[in-house]
Amino acid sequence: MFSQNNTKFKELANLFNELEKTSSSLVMIDILANFFQKVSAEEAKLTAYLLKGKITPDYLGGEFGLAQKLVIRAIARAYNLSIEEVEKNFYKKGDLGNVAEELSNKKDSELTIIEVFKQLKQIVDSSGEGSQEQKINILSDLLKKSSFLEAKYIIRIVLGVLRLGVGDMTFLYGLSKFLVGSKKAKKTLEHAYNIFSDLGEVCYEALKYGLKKLEQAEPVVGIPTRMMLAQRINNLQEIKNHILGNVFVEYKYDGERIQAHIQKDKIELFSRKHENITHQFPDLIENLKKAFTGKNAIIEGEVVAINKKNNTLENFQILMTRRRKYDIDKYIKEVPIKYFIFDILYINNKSLIYKKLIDRKKEIYNNFQENNEINFAKCIITSDIEEIEAFFDKAIENGAEGIMIKDAESIYQAGIRGWNWIKFKKDYRDELADTFDLVVVGALYGTGRRAGTYGSLLLASFDPKYNRYYTFTKVGAGFTDKDLEEIPKKLNKFKINKKHHLVETNMKADVWFEPKLVMEVRGAEITISPVHTVAINIIKNGGLALRFPRFVRWRDDKSAEDSTTPDEIYQIYKIKNK
Ligand code: ATP
Repeated sequence: MFSQNNTKFKELANLFNELEKTSSSLVMIDILANFFQKVSAEEAKLTAYLLKGKITPDYLGGEFGLAQKLVIRAIARAYNLSIEEVEKNFYKKGDLGNVAEELSNKKDSELTIIEVFKQLKQIVDSSGEGSQEQKINILSDLLKKSSFLEAKYIIRIVLGVLRLGVGDMTFLYGLSKFLVGSKKAKKTLEHAYNIFSDLGEVCYEALKYGLKKLEQAEPVVGIPTRMMLAQRINNLQEIKNHILGNVFVEYKYDGERIQAHIQKDKIELFSRKHENITHQFPDLIENLKKAFTGKNAIIEGEVVAINKKNNTLENFQILMTRRRKYDIDKYIKEVPIKYFIFDILYINNKSLIYKKLIDRKKEIYNNFQENNEINFAKCIITSDIEEIEAFFDKAIENGAEGIMIKDAESIYQAGIRGWNWIKFKKDYRDELADTFDLVVVGALYGTGRRAGTYGSLLLASFDPKYNRYYTFTKVGAGFTDKDLEEIPKKLNKFKINKKHHLVETNMKADVWFEPKLVMEVRGAEITISPVHTVAINIIKNGGLALRFPRFVRWRDDKSAEDSTTPDEIYQIYKIKNK
């Protein structure tokens, strides 16, 4: 049975240590299943956050706010050394976790998981005047009490460099294995995770109340639901292979997807990555308040930048100038926005995710009144391909990037990329003009005009099935001088000293990065490659490579796990090579 919330932190440090030694998902699953035997539901919940170097689910933020310099001061204070001595050590080892591990002479400690978590929370919570000193004090006290292995991982947690590579699906698989001895419960756990995007909470509820409760998971206002995603087609005739009846055809707006959680006295906005981005759009909040006539709701829509002079739709890059912490009022005036509502997941204390799209649409129309800034996504309902084609042309003419085609009878499938939603973009019509969202995992130094900076970037696709990044291409073209200048600024904070252990490639790179940043590239052709590894599990005698790639734009709204998957790339390869 579960322990009583007094499990030692050393169990968690041992877990980290074991996980660090492997990159095999199957081994990770066994290690996790074994660990769940030792802890309470509460401790398992905290473990889910700590494994990712956090103390909260993503949507609650929770930053430690401890830069390297401050951590060096905390280590110096804990072990009675000068800052210079710690810095010298750091210079030699390149990892402050290892520095603390070596400096600590304690083999064992009395710390419990709950206690360490509380201290870490205090570090996160201390803010305002004197908070730096407070954070350093808490951390150094914690280090004094820690064994060497514990000190190593505490430092890596607060610096955000834990990098254990346990994917969400691997974690849920481990939990399933513990609960039922196999992956049988993974579907239920994944469903609940898709509904409330909080690995810790899913873990807690599964251990405390059992799987039955999770099967009935429903959205909660204030907690982001993972978004339903679309498949792509290259030819409108393909629609009939996937949807037989009526479809809603909507403009595919080129902005950012926002899930708005509306309550009487509070509106919160969540991004596709579940970050709380409420503070970025005070104008949207005000306009939503005016447009909403119900009690509470969860809706989805696309926020799009609008050209001030002629009231036309701007593209994604222009909207990204609104992604900022400061000068928000100034940018509200400079880059006005509109929000186009296309779905609703919850209304007046009732979940709508199991209702048909056609009924969900009615709830949007019944509970919102359009105004200048809040609009319903432009749509038609039809089953006629010619009508869809004509609507597509109109969408492009009016500044949309394509259309979304949605089965009118379909439920809202949180977190699923299925055929109930299909996207068709302008680009897809041109042969070999597909775009891909890929993760930067490495870089090669430039020569000539690019000497001293990066000449090309190594890009990969994340495969959730294998919890691995497979490289697909090396991009050096399509960057403006401004882009080139920005690249090191964006990437250098993710530099690591060797290839990330979850990256599979036969390519060499001068610099390796933690897989974090996503960029969109356009390619000319997909071929089989001896060095790239995308779809290697399908093709076997090689992977797929994208030839003649060009940079299109950064996709700061996507996380690494949201990149175009090897399965999607393989589908495109198959269509193009029929
Ligand atoms: P993409 O890179 O093509 O924007 P994605 O991976 O972000 O795709 P998908 O579900 O595959 O997400 O494609 C739909 C995306 O298009 C949504 O995430 C959303 O940002 C955007 N979008 C614009 N208009 C709509 C609409 N009417 N319905 C749904 N999504 C829309």
